[in-house]
Amino acid sequence: ESRAALDSWTGPATTTDGVHVKLLANVADGPSARTASEAPVEGVGLFRTELCFLDRRDEPSVDEQAKIYGEVLDAFTGEDRYVVVRTLDAGSDKPIAFATLEDEENPALGVRGLRLAVHNPGLLQRQLDGIAAAAQATGAETWVMAPMVATVAEAGDFAAAVRERGLKAGIMVEVPSAALLADRMLEVVDFLSIGTNDLTQYAMAADRLASDLAHLTDPWQPAVLQLIATTAAAGQRADKPVGVCGEAAADPLLAVALVGMGITSLSMAPAAVRAVGAQLSAVSTETCRKAAEAALAAADPMAGRDAVRALLG
Ligand code: PEP
Ligand code: MG
Repeated sequence: ESRAALDSWTGPATTTDGVHVKLLANVADGPSARTASEAPVEGVGLFRTELCFLDRRDEPSVDEQAKIYGEVLDAFTGEDRYVVVRTLDAGSDKPIAFATLEDEENPALGVRGLRLAVHNPGLLQRQLDGIAAAAQATGAETWVMAPMVATVAEAGDFAAAVRERGLKAGIMVEVPSAALLADRMLEVVDFLSIGTNDLTQYAMAADRLASDLAHLTDPWQPAVLQLIATTAAAGQRADKPVGVCGEAAADPLLAVALVGMGITSLSMAPAAVRAVGAQLSAVSTETCRKAAEAALAAADPMAGRDAVRALLG
């Protein structure tokens, strides 16, 4: 794509045969949400709330949390826009002083994300109160999802707590068990969002921060794509949204294959939106399906990329 073509792409993303794919932004706080609201996006697909608290020693009060979340929601109150708020993903690569357990042998496999709520239930309840108050105050369409969900029981308990507050409930699919049980997860939640960064880490048993393992921590790995395809197919059967919010969503070539698997939204850094949108607007769903097949059948990530690139001509 030429620079000019990218700059002139204003969304929404629609394939040449008219299938609409929602493009959303990943944000960290009020200022990043306001910047994102100027990109051609239809909402926020991942608000990483833990990033608001990296420098906090003590847990903010419900009122203070409501104010912080409200700054993000305020940027996306427009009609047909929505914000997916992720509850605290503390632990492992994102230690939070008031939430993270100390001295775990293996923090990536430890008490992180939603698992902290079992350890400290009040923490999740207070965060959900803060999110609900912000949703009420701003009027923004607010969905809430939990990170690091591994079992259907965890998803069900979380969804009940979110729905009690009148909000839509979902989970991230970033533990392989959640992808394998996507049909059953969708019986208890309203939507799924695939976190390809962690899903890749856990499927390939390769630390996402280890640069020596970059050939394994690649979302084009056929095993990872198969978990994504399984999850997307479950979403189509249940007729519920299944998005991708990990780095994979920002790769225009991979985006084509993801849409071919049945993914309904892609959430990414705002800087990536135009390239992904322009690419999707240039292909048919038939091409997307062929791209999905080719990527899934490829021997390795490089072969997958080559095959999809060849299909796009
Ligand atoms: C992911 O794991 O893909 C994800 C989107 O969450 P994070 O990068 O914050 O762990
Ligand atoms: Mg993650």
